[in-house]
Amino acid sequence: MIPAAFDYHRPDSLQDALGLLQTHGEDARVMAGGHSLIPMMKLRMAEVPHLIDLQAITGLRGITIDGATLRLGAMVTQHEIIEHAGLSCAAPILREAALQIADPQVRYMGTIGGNVANGDPGNDMPGLMQCLGAEFTLVGPDGTRSVAARAFYEAAYMTARTDDEILTAISFPATTGGYAYEKQKRKIGDYATAAAAVLLTRKGGTCASASIAMTNLSDVPVWSEAAAQALVGTACDDTAIKAAMAAMDADIDPGEDNRGPVAFKRHVAGVILSRAISRAWSRT
Ligand code: FAD
Repeated sequence: MIPAAFDYHRPDSLQDALGLLQTHGEDARVMAGGHSLIPMMKLRMAEVPHLIDLQAITGLRGITIDGATLRLGAMVTQHEIIEHAGLSCAAPILREAALQIADPQVRYMGTIGGNVANGDPGNDMPGLMQCLGAEFTLVGPDGTRSVAARAFYEAAYMTARTDDEILTAISFPATTGGYAYEKQKRKIGDYATAAAAVLLTRKGGTCASASIAMTNLSDVPVWSEAAAQALVGTACDDTAIKAAMAAMDADIDPGEDNRGPVAFKRHVAGVILSRAISRAWSRT
């Protein structure tokens, strides 16, 4: 497993990285932690004649909490997410999800930016970002733009990001209420067979708002507005949870692969969502 030959670039500014992308066009790709891209290059599923390492660009790092708005630089690692006390208070679902990604070695290198830009349906952060209502900041030759996570994913490995753009940051509101990230995987360190991100708020005895997103159950992450609506106004009892499961089931589109046949995946998705709703509700 040796990748094809490539030139290695390590710019120390965003402008230089963008310049390299422009110069080399489709022969160039940026690399963040390299824990998705390098395996793809080794397997010869990606050929990258010009590899642009983002590690030296300090402006892409850092976690900022500004009132109720959280901002993560694209190069923030999964390990940094887990360790950041302020982030764990302001949006604890992020830490719960990051702890279920791969293993500590991968999490030391893997970045939030790489995880969401990759477009792999198995990545955990895209669905979570949809659940949180996150916005992605993209910078390219034509300037800066913001794309909602819920509008970013088009197909497996296809996103709204153009080849000459770099994802610089991810922003989302601090969470209130209950949360849960529930993931079923074949073994420790594996990608999800199914995962569910759930955020709930409560007013009195009923659910006031809900957001639900599912992972690895379609070519793209699935933010299921219908599943969330099935909970609003209810006490998140068994009837409401079953209604949410049915609505979610109508929104997902899993394919058969080495994680199991379609019927099995749909069953696991329901179990996972049911557990996530119950845990999130117990935390409201
Ligand atoms: P890279 O591999 O460097 O890049 C990935 C892609 O994103 C590339 O196409 C690259 O060009 C692009 N990219 C990166 N940064 C940017 C940017 N700022 N702007 C534009 N494009 C960019 N992930 C999970 O979510 N869940 C898991 O359970 C899981 N298990 C894993 C198990 C193993 C054994 C391994 C090796 C990886 C696993 N991963 C898992 C993937 C891991 O989390 C990756 O690190 C992550 O998906 C990609 O982040 P990265 O920083 O390594 O990105």
